[in-house]
Amino acid sequence: MTGKEEGRSDIGIEDLISRILGYNPNSDVEMIRRAYSFAEETHRGRMRNSGDPYITHCLATAEILAELEMDDLTISAAILHDTMEDGGVRKEEIEERFGAKIAELVDGVTVIGSLGLRTEWERQVEEWRKMLLAMAKDVRVILIKLADRLHNMRTLQYLEEDKRRRIAQETLDIYAPLAGRLGIWRLKWELEDLAFRYLKPKEYYELARRVASKRREREEYVERVKEMVREKLREAGISAEVQGRAKHLFSIYQKMLRQGRDFDEIHDLIGIRILTEEESTCYTILSLVHSLWIPIPGTLDDYIARPKGNNYRSLHTTVIGPAGRPLEVQIRTYEMHRDAETGIAAHWRYKERGRKGEDEKRIAWLRQLLEWLRELKNPREFMESLKDDIIPDRVYVFTPKGEIKELPVGSTPIDFAYAVHTEIGHRCVAAKVNGAMVPLRYELKNGDIVEIITSPHSRGPSRDWLKIVKTARARTKIRQWFRMMEYEENVARGREALEKELSRVGMSLAALQKEGKLDLAAGELGFKEVDDLFAAIGFQEISARQVLTKIVPVEEIRVGRRERKGSGPGVRVDGLDCLSVRLARCCSPIPYDKIVGIVTKVKGITIHRDICPNARVAWARKVDAEWNPVDGEYYDVIIEADAYDRAKLLENILNAISDTRTTIKEARAKALGNGITVSRFTISVRDDKQLQEVMAKIKRVRGVTDVRRYIPGEAKAT
Ligand code: MN
Repeated sequence: MTGKEEGRSDIGIEDLISRILGYNPNSDVEMIRRAYSFAEETHRGRMRNSGDPYITHCLATAEILAELEMDDLTISAAILHDTMEDGGVRKEEIEERFGAKIAELVDGVTVIGSLGLRTEWERQVEEWRKMLLAMAKDVRVILIKLADRLHNMRTLQYLEEDKRRRIAQETLDIYAPLAGRLGIWRLKWELEDLAFRYLKPKEYYELARRVASKRREREEYVERVKEMVREKLREAGISAEVQGRAKHLFSIYQKMLRQGRDFDEIHDLIGIRILTEEESTCYTILSLVHSLWIPIPGTLDDYIARPKGNNYRSLHTTVIGPAGRPLEVQIRTYEMHRDAETGIAAHWRYKERGRKGEDEKRIAWLRQLLEWLRELKNPREFMESLKDDIIPDRVYVFTPKGEIKELPVGSTPIDFAYAVHTEIGHRCVAAKVNGAMVPLRYELKNGDIVEIITSPHSRGPSRDWLKIVKTARARTKIRQWFRMMEYEENVARGREALEKELSRVGMSLAALQKEGKLDLAAGELGFKEVDDLFAAIGFQEISARQVLTKIVPVEEIRVGRRERKGSGPGVRVDGLDCLSVRLARCCSPIPYDKIVGIVTKVKGITIHRDICPNARVAWARKVDAEWNPVDGEYYDVIIEADAYDRAKLLENILNAISDTRTTIKEARAKALGNGITVSRFTISVRDDKQLQEVMAKIKRVRGVTDVRRYIPGEAKAT
């Protein structure tokens, strides 16, 4: 966030000109002044909602572009960008006064107009088409549009509530991702934070408050870290600049959502950046950083050797910094840094006109899109690629009749079936994707044509579906079905679950029922009868444990538990009366791994493998834990296998696993491009003995060079 957040930019034309002269002494100042007086005259008398004269918006838009050090044409067109649409000036007039190029830019910005909300698919394709066609002529059109949008976002508080929300949503859906895709991070971040503030004001201000409350402590810590790095660099005789790095609020928020963690657990608020001259020095610095602090496995990303799609280049690593706190480190050259900040805009920077090579690569993506655009006879494919690239968290799939369905990433054919029709979901027995049969847990990909095979003899949805569906709609419908169809069964199941839970704390269901305590609890929880309560437990609408805490005062549980230990899914935790013990998903411990419990603020105790980096960084909150598995309990575990690429490799490995009668929950394979494929599986096992058996079996598959447990790294961020 910047001080300009409130959007009342008081810059005048002279401020703008002196900034431009700062980076471009040969600027055509006279033309920019002429553009200003023409725009000023055109808009005279009109006011912004903020009460400022309209021209302030034109100047502010130009100012944002001047910060990106853009050329005179872009600046002039930015000042003029609203003269056609809002001032009624004709393109010919602008051409006469300022030349064909500027007229074309202003016209391009005008054509895009308002993109409207992302509601129906066809309309959205249309909006993107317009935008990309305008870009096809000159990417500077989009740069002006982004600057225009940024200033409108900065002054959004002057609009009415519903308009604010609409514009903020559109910014988050289209403009921010586009800025990101064009590599202009500076604009992307500010757009996102502003949109976040208007879309989720409560969350935004709460997060801002919490970040601010830790500021001093964080700054001291960063200072200490920076000094340590500088010292190390001095020793090695390397010249480099070490900077602290603030995370923007929206990225923190997204990370909290994505990882389902609380603010206090999002530890990579702390990051530093090291800038140097030479690419090769970056690697030397990386090894110095790794000699200072232990790197967290799986967090090293070499975007220098393998740049991202938008040509972002940098080394990323996360290490366990002082006091055991994870520290994100980015290492890059000054040039890479400047590119990362301004992205594609660098192509038109005054100083660098004619600088081709790098920018060519950067706009290769754009070219490709434009190629697709020309073949718009197949809008489906176009949309696929676009969605894949710009809005990565949705997939677009098709019915055999060519109707489109939009689903969250990770959706299965079951989600699709329920999206088409509830009955199709209930009767779904199998699915074909692009003509071939797939398992129902198959993860849909962009552009898949999905055919659901239903059977009138289907006995309805399976309870396992609840674990694999991704959409709320499918989940709700499946639950409803069970509620209806299996009431009796659910009552029995729920009763049994509650009985078991009660016996853990030494209480009996029958006794409670006699005392009338169950009726009381059922009423309090909003159920008419005790059977309804049992049924709700049975179909997992409410957990037996939740009911337990309702029935029995917490103190009594403590008394009842004094003899016992806090326990959870097959794990005992010493010395703590704790109702909530869960297995960490990151390292997926299974009996009889060496484990530790980590006390967390919100979730009670989480059991990790003792070698898990997530546990290691929280070592201070460690408690002892031991296995106490219950018969018939299964545990998910993730394994990875390296193998030489060959046909049927994945199939052979899957067969090997199935041979041991082990359930496979998820499988994916990724070719590394060097002849090696890495496959990752989530399987369900009773204990480590079964796991060893599975791993030994995979090891014997032809071509497999290594099989191992998966150990997580932290989620990566740029
Ligand atoms: Mn405007």
